[in-house]
Amino acid sequence: MPLKKLKIGVSACLLGMRFRYDGKCKLDQRVVDMLLDKVDFIPVCPEVECGLPIPRPKMHLEHSSGGTRLKVTEDGRDLTLTMEQWAEGKLDQIERRDFAAFLCKSKSPSCALKSAALLDSRGQLIRHDAAGIFVKLLKRRFPKMLIAEETELEDFVKHLNLDIFTGEKQ
Ligand code: SF4
Repeated sequence: MPLKKLKIGVSACLLGMRFRYDGKCKLDQRVVDMLLDKVDFIPVCPEVECGLPIPRPKMHLEHSSGGTRLKVTEDGRDLTLTMEQWAEGKLDQIERRDFAAFLCKSKSPSCALKSAALLDSRGQLIRHDAAGIFVKLLKRRFPKMLIAEETELEDFVKHLNLDIFTGEKQ
């Protein structure tokens, strides 16, 4: 009987889905080449799945006394609650579907693991190693899950230990 493939969540834009705020393609061909025939990709786009359109205005993370907020850059609209409410159901689904790992898009205010910009209320950069709002919740819910940005693809693949799951010789 064939061994089951690992289910890997992946930021949808890395697979070439044009879900970015500007509608542009961010396909990372390395992700496809290294993993396509070895894992089951499950694309996730927090911004589109929580109901935002394509294209949409750019967003950023903003520090506030109440915690990090997801804000629309041009008009300051706060979309944190929209994202958090959607994420609650999505994280339940991820648990049910038993994701083994998540590969996320760097620098995104929703998907980054450790490379999003965090601004103050005047738009000044505080740090550029923040987690995106969705991935922060993902990490909190699944502290042991392997999560990496596409910039760390080689290490990510190593840690997946795919040989065990594909039955290939080690
Ligand atoms: S980075 Fe995340 S939220 Fe942005 S387009 Fe890609 S999958 Fe969607």
